[in-house]
Amino acid sequence: METTKTNTAEYIRLEDAYGAHNYHPLDVVIQRAEGIWVWDVEGNKYLDFLAAYSAVNQGHAHPRIRKALIEQSERVTLTSRAFRNDQLGPFYKLVHELTGFDQMLPMNTGAEAVETAIKATRKWGYKKKGVPENQAEILVFEGNFHGRTTTIVGFSDDDQYKDGFGPFTPGFKLLPYGDLEAVQNAMNPNVVGVLIEPIQGESGIIIPPAGYLKGIAEACKKHNALLIADEIQSGLGRTGTMFAFQHEGVQPDVVTIGKALAGGFYPVSAMLASRDVMDVFNPGDHGSTFGGNPLGCAVAREALQVLVDENMIENSARLGEYFMKRLSELNSPNIQEIRGKGLWIGLQLKPEAGGARRYCEALQDEGLLCKETHVDTIRFAPALNVQQQDLDWAMERIVSVFAKLG
Ligand SMILES: *Cc1c(COP(=O)(O)O)cnc(C)c1O
Repeated sequence: METTKTNTAEYIRLEDAYGAHNYHPLDVVIQRAEGIWVWDVEGNKYLDFLAAYSAVNQGHAHPRIRKALIEQSERVTLTSRAFRNDQLGPFYKLVHELTGFDQMLPMNTGAEAVETAIKATRKWGYKKKGVPENQAEILVFEGNFHGRTTTIVGFSDDDQYKDGFGPFTPGFKLLPYGDLEAVQNAMNPNVVGVLIEPIQGESGIIIPPAGYLKGIAEACKKHNALLIADEIQSGLGRTGTMFAFQHEGVQPDVVTIGKALAGGFYPVSAMLASRDVMDVFNPGDHGSTFGGNPLGCAVAREALQVLVDENMIENSARLGEYFMKRLSELNSPNIQEIRGKGLWIGLQLKPEAGGARRYCEALQDEGLLCKETHVDTIRFAPALNVQQQDLDWAMERIVSVFAKLG
């Protein structure tokens, strides 16, 4: 599959000429997609093994979600929250029923949901815990990824995410990920919350030691701090459960969701919490012009219903285990480690393997679209309605690439 044909090259030229260069995509120009498959402008077909960073867990262009989008778009798309709409309430109710959280606050992007959680947690700290003004601290972790706003990149430990964007918001303390004692030692009366990815996605599917999240939940309880789980990528079935925190049997106080919440049709995100936390927000404290709009609500409600009706979460658990087993049969001196939960798998290469990028490019040539994360890890994350024979098809390509590249 040549990627230098005129058509592809021309689209890339347009992007280069007229767009910001803030991404380094594979040179495949996608024109059409359905389920787990995508087609490029040359007519080549690929298995999508990234699923838009888990934003299309339900598969591309799911017919039920598309129908909800079209039907709602013919009624009303945006009212702003100055008026009510008939899609918001039913969406709230379904999220409550599926997640058990009392209440939600809808936003659009993941970063906005995280910002919302930070604001809620701080305000809860001042109004309910009694932390002195401007002293609130939130504990965060090395390797975190919570989005790209200035506040959020300010507590990243990735130099590139921060370089040139300061000064940053104070009030965050960075701790090593996976070290429970570090959390216990960092607790003090001004700590209002601990913001954590139960499994770190962008960092390369990093799974902390068993009991870690549970220990943090206990430390939070003991010191009256909120546990905030960022489930924007790990949630909604990706790891084989509705939320990744369920693997540890903990109950966070605050959860952020996004990405797959609207099945890739529309940006919808949310913060979920108990009533006790959510009621720190009064009219005018926070909001978004598009947050909670009827089109997004209708699409997200159908996207969640599809996830459940089509047993995609169970499928993720079952086939995730199957695919991990298949991958463990790979015989390559260049593999450092394979780790995963459900259909969320990171294959980390040894430093001497020459980086994950060239593997992803070779896989693209074989018809499998993956994206490296950081330098050394290939992430495997197909839509959750992938079938076993599709994974076998993918496995043939992966075997062939490892045979070629070592
Ligand atoms: C993708 C992601 C975000 C940010 O979501 P955007 O929609 O890109 O703003 C936040 N947290 C986690 C864990 C993510 O994976």
